[in-house]
Amino acid sequence: MTTAQDPQTPPVLEIRGLVKSFGDAPVLRGIDLSIARHECVAVIGASGSGKSTLLKSVNLLEQVDDGQIFLQGEDITDPRVPVDATRARIGVVFQQFNRFPHLNVLDNVTLAARKVHGQSRGTATATALRWLERIGLADKVGDYPDRLSGGQQQRVAIVRAIASDPELLLLDEITSALDPQLVGEVLDLVADLKRAGSTILMTTHEMGFARRVADHVVFLSGGVIVEQGPPELVLGDPQEPETRAFLARVH
Ligand code: ADP
Ligand code: MG
Repeated sequence: MTTAQDPQTPPVLEIRGLVKSFGDAPVLRGIDLSIARHECVAVIGASGSGKSTLLKSVNLLEQVDDGQIFLQGEDITDPRVPVDATRARIGVVFQQFNRFPHLNVLDNVTLAARKVHGQSRGTATATALRWLERIGLADKVGDYPDRLSGGQQQRVAIVRAIASDPELLLLDEITSALDPQLVGEVLDLVADLKRAGSTILMTTHEMGFARRVADHVVFLSGGVIVEQGPPELVLGDPQEPETRAFLARVH
């Protein structure tokens, strides 16, 4: 898309003709989307437009009805591809704090690296401490998540998702449950990750943030991509009346 791509290297993520219904209700009606390495794609759209279903499909939390999803060229919707191994390649953060309340911050961050990726406790801890230091939470390693602010919890969730160096990071409305004054610290961390080279597919209601960090913005409505392109166009000079109406509502 926006990043120059070696024709030999497949995109990190390529979605082709993705279709998903719940009962008779079509939710995704033929989504095509491609994300190059180091690229950040932001999916915007009204509540119910299918954003979360799209991300869950990529993480194989929803079974798709039709279409394919390629991760580094491998069709992960192929039932012969093991689901757990695929999920281990993808870091995920949801709107609701998906941390383990009974584990302290350090164990929250290192658990997947140790159990899923087979890292030693020493290696996983060293990586976790480096990250926690970087986000200013090194002194919280022994605390339980409920002692942290919402913004600190989401930053821990992000660090946990990237601690095992995933090929792709999925971020679903990670600031929508936060008090407004805590949103900035979480978005700053995402911007840092993007600068450091992470490949990110995110949904967000923060249009200013999408404009600042995303390379590509996708406007989803009724399960189809109505408009997509660079943020300055989709957010700054949208061509479709539906995109304009949506942006007028959220601004
Ligand atoms: P968004 O994240 O854009 O708000 P979702 O992907 O969560 O949208 O939902 C899209 C549509 O699919 C909504 O109408 C929602 O009610 C419906 N939906 C989502 N998950 C389920 C489910 N597990 N069962 C039935 N309907 C669902
Ligand atoms: Mg959602």
